[in-house]
Amino acid sequence: METWISGTTGLLCLLGSPVGHSGSPAMYNFSFQKQKIDAAYLAFDVKKDQMPQALDAMRLFKMRGGNITMPCKNVAATLMDELSPAAKIIGAVNVVVNDHGKLIGHITDGIGFVRNLKEHGVAIKDKRLVVLGAGGAATAIQVQAALDGARQVTIFNRQDEFYPRAEATAKKLAKAAPDVEVVIEHLEAADKLKAAIAAADILVNATTVGMKPNDGESLVNPDFIRQDLVVADTVYNPLKTKLIEDAEKIGAKVAPGKGMLLWQGAAGYKLWTGQDMPVKAYQAFEA
Ligand code: NAD
Repeated sequence: METWISGTTGLLCLLGSPVGHSGSPAMYNFSFQKQKIDAAYLAFDVKKDQMPQALDAMRLFKMRGGNITMPCKNVAATLMDELSPAAKIIGAVNVVVNDHGKLIGHITDGIGFVRNLKEHGVAIKDKRLVVLGAGGAATAIQVQAALDGARQVTIFNRQDEFYPRAEATAKKLAKAAPDVEVVIEHLEAADKLKAAIAAADILVNATTVGMKPNDGESLVNPDFIRQDLVVADTVYNPLKTKLIEDAEKIGAKVAPGKGMLLWQGAAGYKLWTGQDMPVKAYQAFEA
């Protein structure tokens, strides 16, 4: 039994349902111990309608903050005292900072994506992106890329219930980032996808395609990929999707989803503690 928990130990939490599979408690508690931060992180299974109570408990117990996961990210955004610019545009929150009773909501998925690219030597500024998808991960990437000065974001989505979300994102970005050109296309239009990728600097798969148990699937014909294209994926299970493997074979620079996951977590850690999460040490511990 570790003896690092004492009467002064602060609490951070994960709220959502289900939470039992989450890697966040292991990652954050490792980091707190490594940096001798007097805090502990626990996961609580909380449903959407319990969020007001859970956030009141966060205030009552003077928790430093926490993470919000599905299906509570949108409802949490409506319960915050303040939202970051990206969280305001997206209407979702995955990190809460408790600033002396004032709850500030952030969304760090897009921040993690941009940081992961940076770790691979790629800056987002002035770049042309093709983003496949219009769900949670895709929207976070589209918004953060626009806020961070990308030149163009072309969204491809199939004609499903997520397509209107692409239209809503484009509308919001026209106001929040008017210099960024946002284009929406149907994923079914293969010729348009080919032309858009040919004109792009960065291609991102932010759909669930390629994720287990459907690994081996990719939305992109390998012939569309060229050596000087950066290819990123949000999918982290498997660690290398078919898209990433195809891109590697062609010699393109790749940024798999595991890095985004790690850096979105590190962004939350920095917001709570003011310190850089010991990412390299955790990676070594996990390996
Ligand atoms: P979501 O359900 O919100 O969105 C799903 C998207 O996939 C939609 O755009 C939908 O149109 C598209 N899609 C689904 N099946 C498709 C198909 N057969 N053909 C074409 N498009 C299809 O999902 P999400 O939460 O945005 O997650 C997407 C992926 O990103 C998942 O694999 C998830 O694990 C991953 N993710 C990774 C991180 C990270 O930090 N790396 C963070 C969030 C999500």
